[in-house]
Amino acid sequence: MSLGEGRPGTTDSDRRGHPPGAVWRPYTQMKTAPAPLEVARTEGCRIHLADGRSLVDGIASWWTACHGYNHPYIRERLEAQLSKMPHVMFGGLTHAPAETLAERLVELLPGALSRVFFTESGSVSVEVALKMSAQCWMNHGQPDKRRFVSFRGAYHGDTFATMALCDPEEGMHARFRGLMPEPLVAELPTTEASRQAFSSLLEARASEIAGIVVEPLVQAAGGFIFHDPEVLRFLRRVADAHRVHLIFDEIAVGFGRTGWMFACQAAEVVPDMITLSKALTGGTLPLAATIATRDVFESFLRDDPKAALMHGPTYMANPLGCTAALASLDLFASEPRLEAARALEASLEARLAPARAHPRVIDVRVLGAIGVVEVDRVNDLEGLRRRFVDLGCWIRPIGRCLYLMPSLVIAADELDQLATAILTVLDEL
Ligand SMILES: *Cc1c(COP(=O)(O)O)cnc(C)c1O
Repeated sequence: MSLGEGRPGTTDSDRRGHPPGAVWRPYTQMKTAPAPLEVARTEGCRIHLADGRSLVDGIASWWTACHGYNHPYIRERLEAQLSKMPHVMFGGLTHAPAETLAERLVELLPGALSRVFFTESGSVSVEVALKMSAQCWMNHGQPDKRRFVSFRGAYHGDTFATMALCDPEEGMHARFRGLMPEPLVAELPTTEASRQAFSSLLEARASEIAGIVVEPLVQAAGGFIFHDPEVLRFLRRVADAHRVHLIFDEIAVGFGRTGWMFACQAAEVVPDMITLSKALTGGTLPLAATIATRDVFESFLRDDPKAALMHGPTYMANPLGCTAALASLDLFASEPRLEAARALEASLEARLAPARAHPRVIDVRVLGAIGVVEVDRVNDLEGLRRRFVDLGCWIRPIGRCLYLMPSLVIAADELDQLATAILTVLDEL
């Protein structure tokens, strides 16, 4: 691969100790990280590299490609939309893909969730939920309600307000403390003691709290920690008792990942706001949505123009993104995706179960299409990731978790290869 090499004006000293090229990479120590692998194309559950190798993708491109890559139906719909209108601004204008997508999402979600605000990334959709919540209380004449409660183990994004919601120690943003709004981070109320503590926190501070933000059923990037639906019902009761919003961040779990279309359905809890992104477009284009209840929406309906929601990203409701999302929803309706996600639970359990006997393994847990092998420690994360590539797999452990979140259409032999790679790597730890 020769990306960026030999470009005019690039001297050897410019490049010394750095990978070639002009790109600054995500969460990557550019001084020491190995060069990224160049991808030539993707198909089904496979990533084909420029050097001719092919990898089975165990994590569906950061949990997005739920129908596999390059699904012909999504491609066809996108091509048709591309020839009509790749993009148009959304202020003062609208278009059928956005209107229809909003209606389709509202139909799929529990009744009260009825107004959709589109953005282009997950983090921004969480920011919008926070802004909706705080501004809703302002519109109700309660401007002091502006803080948010989140949980240990949480991950809600990389922007400033969302960083503040992430786990302060285990999360990726500990070093930014002090730069961000002061977070109120609680223990997830999974025990009698933590439920008591949580109730007390709300009792003491509800007058300054706008909302509670939680990843329902699975705290994903913060360590793949699962909790019972009862936790969400408890949060709903406490939120109602103290008049604070309950915000579900379903960016990771939405669209079938847990075996339910949305995690809120598993718990039969209706949040005041929900955020969606990752698998929204079936892993094809960046798009996100914040969906609010009628009550929240109606608090913005005032004669005062300043009471309107003050947000509007340039590329919001991009017509191609909305078209991809509509095509993805069609596939959920016409193909047995949720059944596949539920079946994956049994397949992942069967294939990962042998890891339980391994001395370095702390826990093996599976929910829907999420399989996690947690080990006591990982010394060389990069080395581990490279080893998986040697084994023909795209598996990227986070922290101490070797996890699989594959496409929901992954074939049995591909799943075998992924699970065998995990068991092999465990024996080499
Ligand atoms: C990935 C993720 C985000 C951030 O989404 P981006 O599109 O990366 O900004 C927020 N919340 C959860 C639960 C996520 O998994």
